Amino acid sequence: MINIIIANPHGFCFGITRAIDIATNTSKNPKKPIYFLGELVHNQHVVDWLEKELKIKTVQSLDNIPSGSVVIIRAHGATPQIFQQAKDRGLEIVDASCPLVLKSHQTVKDLASQKKQIIFLCNKIDHDETIGVVGEAPEFTTPVTLENIFDYPIDNPQNSVIVTQTTLSTIETKKALLFIKNKYPEVSILPHICQATTERQQSIIKLAKKYHFVIIVGSPTSANSNSLKAVAKSTGANAFIVDNATELNLNWFIDQKNVVISSGASTPESVLTEVIQKIKEITRP
Ligand code: SF4
Repeated sequence: MINIIIANPHGFCFGITRAIDIATNTSKNPKKPIYFLGELVHNQHVVDWLEKELKIKTVQSLDNIPSGSVVIIRAHGATPQIFQQAKDRGLEIVDASCPLVLKSHQTVKDLASQKKQIIFLCNKIDHDETIGVVGEAPEFTTPVTLENIFDYPIDNPQNSVIVTQTTLSTIETKKALLFIKNKYPEVSILPHICQATTERQQSIIKLAKKYHFVIIVGSPTSANSNSLKAVAKSTGANAFIVDNATELNLNWFIDQKNVVISSGASTPESVLTEVIQKIKEITRP
């Protein structure tokens, strides 16, 4: 049987645990119908569990929430426009945004009030966190992906500031920011990669360098899970991401003696356990 090394820390971060606790507490007082606007966290297993256990429905638009209901804002935050629309519709708002995401909102608001040009460095421009943060000051903020930042022209570097998404790959971000600093030394940089992301990535980088084969358990829509895979890959290791045990591929395990396992910040421990169990089964001699 293959030797399984579980990276630590892994799994739920502070912001996700907090969002689930907020939803759980809100559901204990069900005087009004309760809805999530978008997935509370980027993991379908958690979303299904919340719907089943807490009876809170996920909808993708405020138009689907009847007036007088409660709306829970997801861990990745939302734009100020969404908060305003929810108030206008007569909804009670419960904000489960991670406080570390809200720090980025505040930073963008402060910079915009100084008329700075803000570049929000992100994984994807349509990620919920990106949309929420950029929405604080859209006229001053441009979302640019880690992939595109190398070709992005900064017209006024003295007045430009780069703010980073909380869940970026630390390795790719360092490379990108070094490149930008060389090209535009006057640009300011305000990194916002959170501690949970940094710690999980540091652990995976160390283990990936030693064992060269990594599996991340997480949703394909989870930015931090994808970043865990990206940092593992950048060490030269083989790295894969699976949402659940059925996505494991037998071929990955041929001639492997060790596998490192980690899970994204919104992946439940139960799914990680199932994946580990399945790996034990398929690698049993
Ligand atoms: Fe908050 Fe970081 Fe968790 Fe995102 S990964 S929810 S920023 S603690």
